[in-house]
Amino acid sequence: VERLRGSEARRREPALAPTVRLAIEIADDHAIDPRALAAALAEACRRAGVEVLTGAVVASLEVEQGRVIGVRLADRHVITAGQVVIAAGAWSGLIDGIPDEARVAIRPVKGQVLRLHDPSGPGLLSSVLRMAGGYIVPRGDGRYVLGATMEERGFDTTVTAGAAFELLREAVELLPGAGELVLDELSAGLRPATVDNVPAVGPGTLAGLQWATGHHRNGILLTPITAEIVAAALTGAQAPPAAAAVSPARLTGSPVGVG
Ligand SMILES: Cc1cc2nc3c(=O)[nH]c(=O)nc-3n(C[C@H](O)[C@H](O)[C@H](O)COP(=O)(O)OP(=O)(O)OC[C@H]3O[C@@H](n4cnc5c(N)ncnc54)[C@H](O)[C@@H]3O)c2cc1C
Repeated sequence: VERLRGSEARRREPALAPTVRLAIEIADDHAIDPRALAAALAEACRRAGVEVLTGAVVASLEVEQGRVIGVRLADRHVITAGQVVIAAGAWSGLIDGIPDEARVAIRPVKGQVLRLHDPSGPGLLSSVLRMAGGYIVPRGDGRYVLGATMEERGFDTTVTAGAAFELLREAVELLPGAGELVLDELSAGLRPATVDNVPAVGPGTLAGLQWATGHHRNGILLTPITAEIVAAALTGAQAPPAAAAVSPARLTGSPVGVG
């Protein structure tokens, strides 16, 4: 981490406003495009032989004698499985069939984000710019993501003028050229959050049930460690040290399943 005077910050990012007097450079901060990551992960799964069902809505867990034995889809089709991983984002706590004492409560935290582009191509900003209320992420090809609001509004995903205003106001103050960017999209998503805002990953208290949810603001960042913890839990390998801190059991009652 390096502390920069305004002039040095502007030498590195010339489009920063003349009013910027101090900046912090974080050399190891990186960004990826989450939409590209999700598409790449889906493709990697297919190539590894995973059968991916799109549009299949899980209506409930199938539980027999205190153990999860599969899931029932909304079309009533049942998929049997020795282990089920709930990774349904903000909806993870709503799936039927989970005994109350084994359920991890998840609440949605709404985030609105603006996508913009520079018709003259990349160059306005080369590194991620973090501000008090959000960030601007250059995608490297003239596209920018400006985010994000944090709103406790249940499952509401409407987009609002106020959010666009708040996001743009701060961005334009620090990066005046952002006002010239073309608006492509204002969208809202729901972050899955637990009661303590720490993820719930790994086995809970119902036999055969794993959780991979509650990642709140960091679900993309935490993709690799989440995969490691879940893979270890499913294969019986030793859990990585981080697993203890995110154990879903801290959020549920006492064990209700068999071994
Ligand atoms: C505006 C915004 C900005 C963000 N910025 C960042 C960031 O910079 N860095 C970062 O690391 N994270 C960020 N996040 C958080 C990140 O997006 C989430 O933590 C992550 O998407 C959670 O992943 P998930 O797979 O658990 O849930 P989701 O991505 O919500 O996926 C859950 C999936 O489950 C499906 N589903 C739900 N119920 C069912 C059902 N019954 N049957 C079948 N499927 C079902 C849903 O349709 C959805 O496809 C941001 C989030 C928002 C909204």
